[in-house]
Amino acid sequence: MAMNPWIAKAVVLAATVVMLAIRGPHGQRSRSVKVAKSHRTALQTGLLVFAWVGFFVPLVWVASPAFRFAEYPLRAVPLAAGVMCYLIGLWLFYRSHADLGTNWSITLEIREGHRLITHGVYRVVRHPMYSALALYSVGQALVIPNWAAGLSNLVAFAVLFALRVGAEEKMMAHQFGNEYATYTARTKRLIPRVW
Ligand code: SAH
Repeated sequence: MAMNPWIAKAVVLAATVVMLAIRGPHGQRSRSVKVAKSHRTALQTGLLVFAWVGFFVPLVWVASPAFRFAEYPLRAVPLAAGVMCYLIGLWLFYRSHADLGTNWSITLEIREGHRLITHGVYRVVRHPMYSALALYSVGQALVIPNWAAGLSNLVAFAVLFALRVGAEEKMMAHQFGNEYATYTARTKRLIPRVW
């Protein structure tokens, strides 16, 4: 039985609000922590813009009929699976911000007094915030009964991740040397024990 798409719209709105509420205070605070060394390039800035577009497309889907051409019926099983992904993703997004603290940056930057974080969720994987964003994006693709709006975040995140993670690890290796090498040797990137 097909369900009312407004259920999915309410879920997407709620998840977006929680996401922004988690990020908000960190974005605010990071303005007062001095950048010691910026590794931001034009590519990295472009990727951020791309990711923000991917993040906002689902809101256009919620508010307008612009994506009607790609709509399909909403079913209970993908909806429930998507909500699970959203919940785990948002929890991990919250935890990774808490563990990273003032070392967090929206792009590739080393902050003043930057320390390598290896505890909390960073003990399990090197990029828990990216794992969180991946889970969130998969959740969104499952919840939104629309091929275009549902996949926008996942595609944008996949591109961002693919073109950023290598440069980020290089920056961290350059900054923390052996400490990062040791950390890398005992952790996976995104999925505990797998990759
Ligand atoms: N890739 C990480 C962090 C994302 S925020 C994750 O997915 O959880 C990006 C910034 O965090 C980078 O620019 C870098 O300055 C910082 N960073 C990444 N890993 C870190 C770590 N283990 N300890 C401290 N800072 C880290």
